[in-house]
Amino acid sequence: MSDVLIVGAGPTGLALALRLHDLGVGVRIIDKHESVLGLTKSAALHARTMEHLRDLGLADAVLDEGQRVEHLTLRTGHRDRISVDFRTLHDTAYPFLLDHPQDRTEHLLIEELARRGVAVERAAACVGIEQHGDGVRATVAVGGRTRTLEARWLVGCDGVRSTVRRLLGIERTGAPYPDDWVLFDADIDWPLPRNELTFSADGEGLFGVFPLPGERRYRVAYTPTPGVEPSMEDAQRSMARSGVEGTILAVDNLRPFTLAHMQAVRYRRGRVFLAGDAAHVHTPFAGQGLNLGIGDAMNLAWRLAAVAHGADARLLDAYQAERHPVAASVIAMTHRTAQAMLLRDDPRRHLRDAVMTVLQASERARRALARRLSQLDHHYRGAPGVAGRAHGLAGGDRLPDLEFFDGLSQRAGRLHEFLPYDRHTMLLTDPAQTVGLTVPDSCAVRLITPDWARARTAQNVPTALDRGRSAARLYGSAYLVRPDRHVAGIGSPSDLAAAAALDSHEEVG
Ligand SMILES: Cc1cc2nc3c(=O)[nH]c(=O)nc-3n(C[C@H](O)[C@H](O)[C@H](O)COP(=O)(O)OP(=O)(O)OC[C@H]3O[C@@H](n4cnc5c(N)ncnc54)[C@H](O)[C@@H]3O)c2cc1C
Repeated sequence: MSDVLIVGAGPTGLALALRLHDLGVGVRIIDKHESVLGLTKSAALHARTMEHLRDLGLADAVLDEGQRVEHLTLRTGHRDRISVDFRTLHDTAYPFLLDHPQDRTEHLLIEELARRGVAVERAAACVGIEQHGDGVRATVAVGGRTRTLEARWLVGCDGVRSTVRRLLGIERTGAPYPDDWVLFDADIDWPLPRNELTFSADGEGLFGVFPLPGERRYRVAYTPTPGVEPSMEDAQRSMARSGVEGTILAVDNLRPFTLAHMQAVRYRRGRVFLAGDAAHVHTPFAGQGLNLGIGDAMNLAWRLAAVAHGADARLLDAYQAERHPVAASVIAMTHRTAQAMLLRDDPRRHLRDAVMTVLQASERARRALARRLSQLDHHYRGAPGVAGRAHGLAGGDRLPDLEFFDGLSQRAGRLHEFLPYDRHTMLLTDPAQTVGLTVPDSCAVRLITPDWARARTAQNVPTALDRGRSAARLYGSAYLVRPDRHVAGIGSPSDLAAAAALDSHEEVG
């Protein structure tokens, strides 16, 4: 019996498998298809996802292959209305989004898993689930026969038509959209900069252009002319909605698709969980879906690992409490934007354009939009198990990935990389906080301080000497940071040690 059986080897299931394996959990992953399908789907990897991929050991590989995009522009009536500048993201190593085809992301995840000795079991479709006291029994169809797989927990990462969700009888809220969409990859003579992603709309429909790696290579999503079969000619005609004079030279994988805004009402039943598109789906506006799925995986993985290693099973309840509201807000944002961009009647379009002009005039609003789209501001404030507040940071927030110069190693470093990624870390900012401190064995301790004299004498605690005071906003407090780089608590080191013990079910001392 494995600890966790993952149904579905899309980006969510693969990221979850990798993370669980790295956290010491026995994992098995199955997929109904013989191989990665290579469908034209997601292109955009946002800053928060790049941070997750760095923790999974994959950021450099995707950076090598991907196309950096620094601007996202919304155009209506043939004019730029809002320009989001991702370079304003100041507390991440990735102040951009990376266009990287989804099938390549999946292949890299599969290779990384294979390096750790975990293979995706293919042509294996989950068709039944039975739960009992200690685990889950899944019926899996393989080559015309069925077999039974046992696991302590099962996670349905099986996409928008999730069998696991159906077998659990979990309802979804939301609705399909009436508009048809078409997606394709193409060589295009496109005069806008290669580091810019654009969504354009006029009264007829929408035309979105994602730059892909490769000269003149783009991924395009558009709403086709009603009653007209998707074709290169119709795509070229639809480009006129952007007001940009480009020429489509060659098209691959042109395929129609429909969209919906839907969310599972619950993400868990007993020992079975839902993650990724199985739990939520929305429009591809600003490329959020795959990113959201990987965020689910990173949240669920450390919880399952902690409980598998003996922590209180109630830790698993907070998965839904934390991830459901995050997806609900992404669905609401992408829904509002899609509706606004697809307005057909003139008075409301004029009003929309006026609102966009006001937003564009506000640097603060544009910065906030960049943070929102990058998913760096997804937080879990108010969820069970997170607490404390100091210096503008609260329990549940993502720890800012500040860059600092470490005077001890004499190298530039990043805060996230200073903390281990496979356990909770007590992050201290004053050497005095280390005196008499006892933490559970499974919790790491790190100190960051600008005080060189005391940094050199801090005993038994890995220390960074923050000579440029880059982390000054954190000083004066102690933080308990989870493996997913979210702050579990801010408070006194002894209280945080007690909280760390709860998350690991270990005694302090
Ligand atoms: C046209 C389009 C454009 C998009 N653009 C973007 C974008 O730019 N950025 C972005 O972030 N997102 C984008 N998305 C969304 C993104 O593609 C999805 O959010 C992402 O694929 C979700 O990953 P997943 O692993 O949850 O599900 P999926 O990728 O759907 O993977 C599910 C896996 O489960 C397997 N499976 C299904 N049923 C079973 C079963 N019963 N047993 C075993 N295996 C099973 C399937 O074979 C599949 O491999 C786009 C989506 C579409 C359709």
